[in-house]
Amino acid sequence: MAMRPTLPPCAVSPEMYQDEILLSPPARRDVTVEQWRDYLVKRAAAHRRCAGCDVLADCLYRSVVEVDVLGFVACTSEAERRTMRRELGIEVRFDSSPYGTARVGGGPVDHAEVIGARKAHPDETCRELAQRLGCSTSTVKRHLRQEREGRAVAVTTIEKPSVGDVLDAFDRLDTSRSV
Ligand code: SF4
Repeated sequence: MAMRPTLPPCAVSPEMYQDEILLSPPARRDVTVEQWRDYLVKRAAAHRRCAGCDVLADCLYRSVVEVDVLGFVACTSEAERRTMRRELGIEVRFDSSPYGTARVGGGPVDHAEVIGARKAHPDETCRELAQRLGCSTSTVKRHLRQEREGRAVAVTTIEKPSVGDVLDAFDRLDTSRSV
């Protein structure tokens, strides 16, 4: 009888990875001590699961080099993966998106506004983008998810980094040293 493959922890416990606080990490200045502690505890729990995952190296490489995914993946936040890409000199970009400048003012936001704001402010969390755009965090996430699912992604780099390069960049993250 064929052996069933072992599921990765994120498939076994998807609710842990889909927790709002991991999908949209707060800035320390925006939350109370208790909320910050809750974030750190949940993040550390997901980090431990990923660290024990059989496909961590593949997952990390794909999420840094090949596809821009939302949330906490492969022991890293979205912001940390952006940091790693900067270090590696690569960019995972959306294909032919109508980027614009950040929107100011009220009213419903459309897809291009959300994508434009993300491009103009790549280090902001979904929560911060939502505040900037005057919409909900879930609206921002929905548009970003649609963008990622609906368009091809490409890595703009002369040469793709090796797995070793990506792991070295990962080791240089503060959170890799402290958790
Ligand atoms: S390393 Fe990737 S596949 Fe493994 S649990 Fe973490 S997110 Fe899931």
